[in-house]
Amino acid sequence: MRTSSYFLPTQREAPAEAEATSHRLMLRAGLVRRLASGLYTWLPLGRRVLRLVETVVREEMDRTGALELLMPMVQPSELWQRSGRREDYGSELLNFPDRHGQEYCLGPTHEEVITALIGQELSSYRQLPLTLYQISSKFRDEIRPRSGVMRAREFLMKDAYSFHQDQGCLARCYQAMHDAYSRIFTRLGLEYRIVEADSGQIGGAISHEFQVLAAAGENAVAIDTTSNYAIAAELAPCPAVGEPPPPSMALQTVHTADCHSIAAVCQHLNAAPECALKVLVVAARGGDPIALLLRGDHTLSAVKAGRATELELPLRFIAADELRSRHNLQPGVIGPIGLKLPLIADHAAAELADFICGANRQGHHYTGANWGRDAPLPQRADLRCASQGDPAPSGGVLEIKRGIEVGHIFQLGQKYSIAMNAQLNAEDGSLFHPHMGCYGIGVSSIVAAAIEQHHDETGILWPISMAPFQVALVPLGHHRSAAVAETAERLYGELESRGISVLLDDRAERPGVKFADMELIGLPYLLVIGERSLQHGMVELRRRGGEERELPAEEAAAQLNALLSNSISTT
Ligand code: ATP
Ligand code: MG
Repeated sequence: MRTSSYFLPTQREAPAEAEATSHRLMLRAGLVRRLASGLYTWLPLGRRVLRLVETVVREEMDRTGALELLMPMVQPSELWQRSGRREDYGSELLNFPDRHGQEYCLGPTHEEVITALIGQELSSYRQLPLTLYQISSKFRDEIRPRSGVMRAREFLMKDAYSFHQDQGCLARCYQAMHDAYSRIFTRLGLEYRIVEADSGQIGGAISHEFQVLAAAGENAVAIDTTSNYAIAAELAPCPAVGEPPPPSMALQTVHTADCHSIAAVCQHLNAAPECALKVLVVAARGGDPIALLLRGDHTLSAVKAGRATELELPLRFIAADELRSRHNLQPGVIGPIGLKLPLIADHAAAELADFICGANRQGHHYTGANWGRDAPLPQRADLRCASQGDPAPSGGVLEIKRGIEVGHIFQLGQKYSIAMNAQLNAEDGSLFHPHMGCYGIGVSSIVAAAIEQHHDETGILWPISMAPFQVALVPLGHHRSAAVAETAERLYGELESRGISVLLDDRAERPGVKFADMELIGLPYLLVIGERSLQHGMVELRRRGGEERELPAEEAAAQLNALLSNSISTT
């Protein structure tokens, strides 16, 4: 491909609203353009990257014996009524009527469609196991689309569904998918962790997420540094350690002026947040307020709170206005001493002594507060996300890292086959509901995740397997020098004939402009053809983000070929 005839709208600056590094780089490198909130056009360079990801995903899915199909993006809403998920999915499901007044929705996932298909098409256990997959656009009306394609509304997903006669067969397929996913993310050159994930309301089901480690990730992943074990921080058990130590300080009221956050109060009092008590007021079942208590440096786990039978679901925080007007509470200074609300304390909060807490009076906090002496020890529960240094369930110590979810596998069991009444004949002639697994990969979110993990201040550094072109061929001054122009053309032909994808930058631009663009789009190898080196038969090879060296122009294609085959076989 030649830049002179390619569509490569690179930009020096990204729009200010693009905050995530990957989003900025994707816009600047001309990979995507925003159409509307959460909707992106993939420009030719970006489409090439997506295709490479799709290829790896397809190859590994095919290797497991899964069969590719394609289901419609538009689905009858009635199917979602049948599975009982229309309510659960809420407003992420975009519903609309057709011209006959029939309700349809844009598919956020395809369990309903595929279960209906299997129910119709299969009749016997002999046709199982069967795994089907597709790579297609999904639509989810996300409440907060952000970070470009990382959390979009329309995005590309690989979704696979497996059907089995029994749980044992499902478990074997799940393991095969687990292994296939590991191969996919390794081949794509990503550093990832396999994370024990929330099995949600389904209960008892097994689920794992594949998280690419990157500071921009939305998810907190708790990793045992002594093993490979990883679990979502919001799920990692944080059990009770013991009883609070006995009080050593007297209770004192202190002035804290306008300090309402834990950070502000602690800064004002020159204390660490782990010495403070945080109070969150949420709705209990029936709508009355209930206070959840956490240590100042801890965060509430929505998953764990969701399991507390006392609370309204989904979890609802009571707004500051309502706290003031309806419950006579002072947001920002709420504390357990004298508080007339039911309380549930996270174990770490219940184990505090001599702590700082709100005094339920504007501008005032207590120091030296103690359970038992100043307030009755509240009911205790595990409510928090695990934090750095906590003991790991697997025996070591937890380290908390940020992750971008790029894959999710799930043992669904018979949830959908029962809800949608998909039945097959067993060997003894009786009917059974097949056991199902589902396996998703965020094809488009992988592209953003890879950039988050592989970039520097000048641009993207693609892993070889995802690079839209493997080599940038940059002739300098080729309009003035016939030797440069000829060598560039010859090398272009030689590289292409070896099956290497090359972008020849044949624009009449200054070297600085060409280098800046090629670094921005992040191709792994840059081959520079300049008149001076060429006088002694040499060209310059630069590894993006790595070493530079001269090599004979004659050998450039062969050497690059060897380098590329070597790096592909080692990933
Ligand atoms: P999350 O909890 O982050 O919303 P999910 O559990 O809804 O994820 P799945 O339904 O398992 O996600 O989807 C499979 C994969 O699709 C995810 O691992 C993720 O990579 C990708 N994905 C999900 N939602 C989006 C989105 N809004 N934009 C881009 N990719 C997405
Ligand atoms: Mg989601």
